[in-house]
Amino acid sequence: MYKINDNYLKLPGSYLFSTIGKKVAAYSAAHPDKTIIRLGIGDVTQPLAPAIISAMHKAVDEMGEAATFRGYAPDLGYEFLRSAIARGDYASRGADIQADEIFVSDGAKCDSGNIQEIFGLDNRIAVCDPVYPVYVDTNAMAGRTGEYDPKTQRWSNVIYMPCTAENGFAPELPQETPDLIYLCFPNNPTGSAITKEQLQAWVDYANRAGAVIIYDAAYEAYISEENVPHTIYECEGARTCAIELKSFSKNAGFTGVRLGYTVIPKDLKCGDVSLHSLWARRHGTKYNGAPYIIQRAGEAVYSKEGRQQLARQVETYMYNARTIREGLEAAGYKVYGGVNAPYIWLKTPGGMTSWEFFDYLLEQANVVGTPGSGFGPSGEGYFRLTAFGSYENSVEALKRIRKL
Ligand code: PLP
Repeated sequence: MYKINDNYLKLPGSYLFSTIGKKVAAYSAAHPDKTIIRLGIGDVTQPLAPAIISAMHKAVDEMGEAATFRGYAPDLGYEFLRSAIARGDYASRGADIQADEIFVSDGAKCDSGNIQEIFGLDNRIAVCDPVYPVYVDTNAMAGRTGEYDPKTQRWSNVIYMPCTAENGFAPELPQETPDLIYLCFPNNPTGSAITKEQLQAWVDYANRAGAVIIYDAAYEAYISEENVPHTIYECEGARTCAIELKSFSKNAGFTGVRLGYTVIPKDLKCGDVSLHSLWARRHGTKYNGAPYIIQRAGEAVYSKEGRQQLARQVETYMYNARTIREGLEAAGYKVYGGVNAPYIWLKTPGGMTSWEFFDYLLEQANVVGTPGSGFGPSGEGYFRLTAFGSYENSVEALKRIRKL
């Protein structure tokens, strides 16, 4: 008789967004006359920029001609895109990352879930709490996280690093030494960022401890403050301890198009084994490359027109963020984030739990957000709103919340 991977059975409840979806569907069915504003899931709403659309059209036409048709893409990504990324995201910031250290993929979710495969099962992970749930869940599926305690909402073999208002949402160096450290800045869900000095302290720590930092920079495009690093490779020594994950979803609206990449510097080694070659082996075996048309779309992100058009999109979202943040502050809420990230993280009023506030907002204001506790135990008592809606919806949601 076959056996299943029973690590899956240890995973707690259903995924956060499916619970939200069910609650919203039940409310809508009972109140068909109400207009619900969704500021919950972090999906973008603006259409693809014209520079990207025209690059895609051109690539589609190429695929229709024998002379320019492309079949399987190189496993690791087309040279034109890897070079554009190396120039646009690294050389331009003085970071030493070469095109052949970049692995193109279909998004950061897959990479952030798959990257753990190249590490031993006895490695101990450290995560920020609250955090993007994929890091812990994928390690749990692999059997690396021990047992789950529903009371504390913690896994026995995970090092949690609380990020709360008390520490400015910046994790402190852990007491116990982890092997893999997941950091995400600007952060989902708290919307916080850390300074270059703070990140340098993590890089120094990882190098000292012999740990690897898996640095998720999916929201890099939203950084507005000077001393916030755009890539971990701005820090000295990061080439020997850090893997960086990037996504085209939030800077270029590719949530439905799908494109991302992972950087593994060739200096990152466990003894004499290069992590770069392990990931190349894994990628080459399990992945057949992001589509040509999409990689051409990705290349257009780095063109002059693409950059200008995307900067305007980011500005639009960040204008929403500012509007929501300032509006909530004026209404007496304690609000964080929304400066270097499209997420606003607020303290629930009157000691309500995150889910109580979710229900309250859904029922009284018909606004959907995301309960902070869904991202980890230290998210309890907080609530996330996103700036990815339209300006009109952001203003309307704010008006309704303020009326409460
Ligand atoms: N990493 C973080 C922190 C995210 O919040 C998200 C999406 O919300 C992703 C990765 C996933 O990005 P992608 O759309 O490229 O899979």
